[in-house]
Amino acid sequence: MRHRIIVLGAGYTGAIVAGRLAKRLRREDVAITLVNAEPDFVERVRMHQLATGQDLSPRPFSEMFAGTGVELRLAKVTGVDVDGKTVAVVDAKGAEELPYDTLVYALGSGWNAEGVPGVAEHAYEIAGRPGALRLRERLARLDAGQTVVVVGGGLTGLEAATEIAEARPDLDVALAAGGGLGDWLSPKGREHLRKVVGKLGITVHEHAAVTGVEADSVVTADGTSIPAAVTVWTTGFAVHPIAKASALEVTGTGQIVVDETMRSVSHPDVYAVGDAAMVMGPGDKPLRMSCASGIPTAWQAAGAIAARLTGGKLPNTPLRYFNQCISLGRKEGLIQYVTADDRAVGAVLTGRPAAVYKEVVCKGAAWGVANPTFGLPTRRRRVTRERAAAGSAVKSLA
Ligand SMILES: Cc1cc2nc3c(=O)[nH]c(=O)nc-3n(C[C@H](O)[C@H](O)[C@H](O)COP(=O)(O)OP(=O)(O)OC[C@H]3O[C@@H](n4cnc5c(N)ncnc54)[C@H](O)[C@@H]3O)c2cc1C
Repeated sequence: MRHRIIVLGAGYTGAIVAGRLAKRLRREDVAITLVNAEPDFVERVRMHQLATGQDLSPRPFSEMFAGTGVELRLAKVTGVDVDGKTVAVVDAKGAEELPYDTLVYALGSGWNAEGVPGVAEHAYEIAGRPGALRLRERLARLDAGQTVVVVGGGLTGLEAATEIAEARPDLDVALAAGGGLGDWLSPKGREHLRKVVGKLGITVHEHAAVTGVEADSVVTADGTSIPAAVTVWTTGFAVHPIAKASALEVTGTGQIVVDETMRSVSHPDVYAVGDAAMVMGPGDKPLRMSCASGIPTAWQAAGAIAARLTGGKLPNTPLRYFNQCISLGRKEGLIQYVTADDRAVGAVLTGRPAAVYKEVVCKGAAWGVANPTFGLPTRRRRVTRERAAAGSAVKSLA
């Protein structure tokens, strides 16, 4: 019987794990199923572009995985039973349970609407495609002079505010940041950010913790009410509640706790990657939810699973940061170079070259998903019978 590997989620990380495993393991030995709710790859890093009316290249999985041996299952994951080793899915035909021997959990994250009254009811978001399309439709209906308030001064908030201001110079765009504008950046980075934000005419509310969202305004901690025809909520991402509802060991926020091979510390048949995983990075700091650090976790997990099944050497993929690539509209950008643990250093790249750099990074990330094995040896390794045996053999190789 073939060893059944199920990968949940075909985003930046899950698609890479599935593609890499298919390239490394023989089809007679493993059955790889990739479960995803949507039929095409969504470039989450471009959701602010989608929201402002730009069209993204279609990337159907049927083309991406053609001939790879990966079976694509279009379905919504509704639960995981890590003791019974099954995944509950539902599709147009109904509900089903899929049994696995090895599970890779890569369901990513969505927006975080918890904690502030009115967010879920009144705010818009760009953490995924449905949210971005809803905002796109709303922005298109706004008249000149109406106000859009982007709440959240992190990377996503900066990208959203600048993209909207550039695409719709007729709107009044504001940014509400909990701290100072770009206060984690280097002095040169902050200076450039202020210059671009000023040129785009964005009103910045600094140290403005938003404590409530109404239909036509946001309210800050000091009681100030900022008018907002549209509020865009970008205060961070939250993981889907599926892992937390299972017996897996998770953090308070629901991320799966994994070891350095991305294997669950509580259930060795389960691996977690990307936003869904709590991974310790350099300086004993958890990696932030990003492609920058998520993609290497996918390489590490795929390498570790293949090694454990074939008796190979466990990989040691470096998990570290090099830069933060921030788009500031289509014509401007900021590349902030950072230490391995993501702290800004003095060097930055700005202006048009930074915008081009960021575009190359986004294209490269999508290309890497479609070509997950670039640079890997093409030889598929044999899975030994006892290692392929469900669960126990995999555990015994720990
Ligand atoms: C606007 C924006 C800009 C960003 N910019 C950057 C950037 O510049 N650099 C950077 O490093 N990171 C950036 N990020 C963050 C980055 O996109 C995420 O960290 C990354 O997508 C995480 O990858 P992932 O594979 O863990 O999850 P995802 O890419 O979210 O993939 C998860 C997959 O699981 C599927 N799925 C989810 N739930 C279910 C379910 N129940 N059933 C079936 N399928 C399901 C989804 O459809 C999706 O295909 C940005 C994010 C946003 C929203």
